[in-house]
Amino acid sequence: MYSEILNYLPSDRLLFNEEMQNHTTFKIGGPVDIMVLPQDEEDVATVVSFCRQRDIPLFIFGVGSNLLVRDGGIRGVAMKLGENLDEVEVNGEEIQAQAGIKISALARIAAFHSLSGLEFAEGIPGSLGGALVMNAGAYDGEMQGLVIEARAISPDGSIKTFKNEEMQFGYRQSIFQSNGYIIISARLKLVTGNREEIEERMLEFACRREEKQPLDKPSAGSTFRRPPGFYVGPMLEELGLKGYQIGDAQVSSKHAGFIVNNGNATARDVLNLIAYIQQKARERFGVDLQPEIRVVGED
Ligand SMILES: Cc1cc2nc3c(=O)[nH]c(=O)nc-3n(C[C@H](O)[C@H](O)[C@H](O)COP(=O)(O)OP(=O)(O)OC[C@H]3O[C@@H](n4cnc5c(N)ncnc54)[C@H](O)[C@@H]3O)c2cc1C
Repeated sequence: MYSEILNYLPSDRLLFNEEMQNHTTFKIGGPVDIMVLPQDEEDVATVVSFCRQRDIPLFIFGVGSNLLVRDGGIRGVAMKLGENLDEVEVNGEEIQAQAGIKISALARIAAFHSLSGLEFAEGIPGSLGGALVMNAGAYDGEMQGLVIEARAISPDGSIKTFKNEEMQFGYRQSIFQSNGYIIISARLKLVTGNREEIEERMLEFACRREEKQPLDKPSAGSTFRRPPGFYVGPMLEELGLKGYQIGDAQVSSKHAGFIVNNGNATARDVLNLIAYIQQKARERFGVDLQPEIRVVGED
């Protein structure tokens, strides 16, 4: 049944039995039955209708920088909106962009046009789509403060434009984490600033990251959401977990808020490490740590 998709899309947009570890910043994840690399919106719509008509599960991802894919991989189709679909248009203080563009690339385009607001995105490796789903943020900003509206395809194939207030943003939270829509593009509003100052701020953020984060090792960024009243890094340090390792998954010895892959970590290693940390945090601080990273696929 899966090979039928070749009747709808050219073979250079399809990868069969593709290892998800080649498409996640964690470098972890088993095979997906079919990976689709859409070239345009029409491809996205084609895949949605192909999957819907055959009841094939469809998973969407961008850069895979907030993902832990289990070792058994993903059944059905995984569509990657991270490499193509990257057109951008700047109109005054507004930016219209497709979901696949990297948010850090968008930040640089904004800086080039002396537009301020996206500086925080320097160094966030995700796509615009993924950044909206996660309401990505850092330092002094997050996506919620910039987005005017987003165009998305529903699971039944219809197009809907979501206004900012309809996106139910919260801390690393949006409606797209549960409504099954695929974000295709978005319109952002920035403010005019001074190009040099914008670029200086971006450089400063990049330096801070370099100094504090384990950027030399595969990871998916912060493992846990920040619980009210605590910072995860210091909490894990106090628990003596900095550097603690299960298999090749390790609580980073540079920043305890990150789990890193020391080479051959499996998703099982990471999940066991997460469970161990959660147990320790509960016992000592009575805090229920919730993963920020999205865990998908089967064991
Ligand atoms: C070194 C490092 C540093 C990081 N720093 C930060 C940080 O400072 N702040 C921060 O917030 N995050 C940070 N992250 C996490 C991550 O980069 C962000 O969450 C990013 O927004 C995820 O985008 P992505 O394209 O990689 O999404 P993916 O990981 O591919 O997907 C994330 C979720 O979004 C869904 N999704 C992705 N694209 C779409 C779409 N077009 N339509 C519908 N659903 C979609 C997926 O199904 C999944 O549930 C960091 C990660 C790393 C590795």
